[in-house]
Amino acid sequence: MKKEAVLTAERTLDPTNWSTLNELGHRMLDDLFYYLETTRQRPVYTRPAAAAIESMQQPLPQVPQNPSAVYDEFFKHILPFNTNNIHPRFWAWVQGGGTPFGMLADMLASGMNANVSLGDSMPMHVEKQVLDWSKEMMGFPETASGLLISGASLANITALVVARHNANRDIKTKGLQAVKGPLTIYGSSETHNCVLKGVEVIGIGSDNFRKVPVDEDYRIRVDELKRMIVEDIAAGYHPFCIVGNAGTVNTGAIDPLHELSAVAKEHNLWLHVDGAFGAVPNLLPEFAGTLKGLELADSLSFDFHKWMYVNYEAACVLIRDPQLHREAFASAVNYLMVHERGLSAGMDGYNNYGMELSRGFKALKIWMSLKQNGLETYRALIRQNLQQAQYLAELVQNEPLLELMAPVPLNIVCFRYNPGNQTMQELNNLNKEVLMQLHEQGIAAPSYTLLNGQYCIRTAITNHRSRLEDFEVLVNEIVRIGKEI
Ligand SMILES: *Cc1c(COP(=O)(O)O)cnc(C)c1O
Repeated sequence: MKKEAVLTAERTLDPTNWSTLNELGHRMLDDLFYYLETTRQRPVYTRPAAAAIESMQQPLPQVPQNPSAVYDEFFKHILPFNTNNIHPRFWAWVQGGGTPFGMLADMLASGMNANVSLGDSMPMHVEKQVLDWSKEMMGFPETASGLLISGASLANITALVVARHNANRDIKTKGLQAVKGPLTIYGSSETHNCVLKGVEVIGIGSDNFRKVPVDEDYRIRVDELKRMIVEDIAAGYHPFCIVGNAGTVNTGAIDPLHELSAVAKEHNLWLHVDGAFGAVPNLLPEFAGTLKGLELADSLSFDFHKWMYVNYEAACVLIRDPQLHREAFASAVNYLMVHERGLSAGMDGYNNYGMELSRGFKALKIWMSLKQNGLETYRALIRQNLQQAQYLAELVQNEPLLELMAPVPLNIVCFRYNPGNQTMQELNNLNKEVLMQLHEQGIAAPSYTLLNGQYCIRTAITNHRSRLEDFEVLVNEIVRIGKEI
């Protein structure tokens, strides 16, 4: 092929006119800053318009489009119909609200486009710094290992793989066939569903997840746990892991982790703690008692994107035994060997500690956020959310038409509208209707759960934008809607 012919056809995805894209970039930044600054003025929920949904049924693009036209479509059809967990009255599921500085950090990371897996470069060191800080925050030893990952779901699976490896090193090569008697794993009936999914995915099977009953505070019954382990051993099963909850998703219950640690030691089991959001109050000295034992776990998962308010996605798994962690995931691969010098030198690759090879630079937004705010700010915000939960619980208890449905040990408040003289089914339907109208009218966005078959409006407060008055709005509007129905 002639060089000239190649040259005239040579292409790149970089702009031909950098200043035009630069201008568009500034417009985007202005728009997004305005959007974040004014989020309180908009409804918490807006159903996607028909035109917006139609805009996502277009043919696969064959020819180039102008970037500003593409952006206009985003602005018109996507941005207005956000999930909107950035809103001050968003308390659905457990979702954090992100920050404007985090948005900027994500832009920097995306511009660098680093693949943080291996090699001698600074992004690797930033992740190591974040992991070291994470260990300190959670009271884990400096020698522990860890990994940043998309969310607590994947963090939990990563930890369970190491727990499985601890149970039997042959599983890695020979599969579960290497184990005599089925492996069993224990956690309370309030354990998050992602743990069960993990148990299914790593071949243990969810039937072998023993759901231990809870007490009236939704904490695991340690006596029942002990009984189930002993019974399983006698029946030829192979118990290998206990999963403790630091903050259950339904009510924020914190299991007696210290006691779980003792049971695990007694039977030589792995203790994993799912602390997706509830491990974060470990930053507060007043939680030293409640979270006692967290620091004794063999592994721990927690999210930065929930109660540390970091922009999605950002979570962390910590493993006490770094050798075991590495052994569970590492394998010698020719094209990934570490060299003495050059790009391929440097620290042990993160690909040796989890399933992902290509990994984004999530460490940057965490690192920048931790520096921007300092633990002082996080402590104040976490306490603020905890106080808001207590305030909401009081508002509910002071309102005769509302009923508090569970204790409030943390930042989750479950309650319902109850005018009296209704069956459980009627109350369930009524409260579902109240919740849907609350969303549709764009007022507030709690979510729901069932506690003992009873439908609850569930408010999970991991929101740095909420104010006390927002909870007054919530309560007043629920009563108004309830009366109207
Ligand atoms: C949210 C949550 C998870 C799952 O975390 P993701 O970050 O959504 O993957 C697991 N456990 C608990 C207790 C949670 O609240």
